[in-house]
Amino acid sequence: MIRNYSEGTAYYQFPHLAAFSGLAHGVFTRDGGNSTGNFHGLNLSYDVGDHKENVRKNRSLIKYVMEMPYIFSVRQVHGSRVRCFSQQDAPDIEKDEADALITDIPGRLLLVKAADCQSILLFDPVRNVAANIHSGWRGSVQNIIGKTVSVMSDVFGCRASNLICGIGPSLGPCCAEFLNHSKELPRAFERYEVNSNHFDFLAVSRDQLKEAGLSAKNILTSRICTRCSTDRFFSFRKEKRTGRFGAVIGIR
Ligand SMILES: [Zn+2]
Repeated sequence: MIRNYSEGTAYYQFPHLAAFSGLAHGVFTRDGGNSTGNFHGLNLSYDVGDHKENVRKNRSLIKYVMEMPYIFSVRQVHGSRVRCFSQQDAPDIEKDEADALITDIPGRLLLVKAADCQSILLFDPVRNVAANIHSGWRGSVQNIIGKTVSVMSDVFGCRASNLICGIGPSLGPCCAEFLNHSKELPRAFERYEVNSNHFDFLAVSRDQLKEAGLSAKNILTSRICTRCSTDRFFSFRKEKRTGRFGAVIGIR
């Protein structure tokens, strides 16, 4: 991934997405921002106990750095609901429950907040449509990836084979330990057990993307494990009371 610095913060970009000048995207680190204590510094979640004013300022910083005027975000609930945003939707308010966002409206960043969960950025350069998915293990089990690609196809006319995808920093196989996997994970996930009770959810997502029709060459994966990198990213597993970093994508 490409590391960029701006306005006291740092963010990563996927080279194959950065190649499109009409697309804004980035995975922000916790560097910079206004939050303090457990939420130091660029926390983007209103729901973790941080001061709302700090979160508002942090979100403004992201919009400034990305040169995009608005953010669309949702209340993430580890479900599989996909929310499409149109011209009628007011930006910068967070009220609907969902875990995937899609839009073709320019000037809007789709925000996914994460601390170990995957952010899955999708772009269709043919139809000019962007999507962002929040997927932890519950999202993987519900295949929210497959559902989102279906909605992109049904509502926006996207062809899966044209989609370009980047999977953000998240819990790596080194740290994705599931002691109750026999109860929590389906049988089909057994083949992703790389070590005793440790699972490779990046491989799960890659397979779900390919199953949905994406080309393997269009899928890039960040190799950064959040739990191993709390100097740069928030990790719920490591820190418990902590912030959420942001992954954003949007049409310019
Ligand atoms: Zn790790």
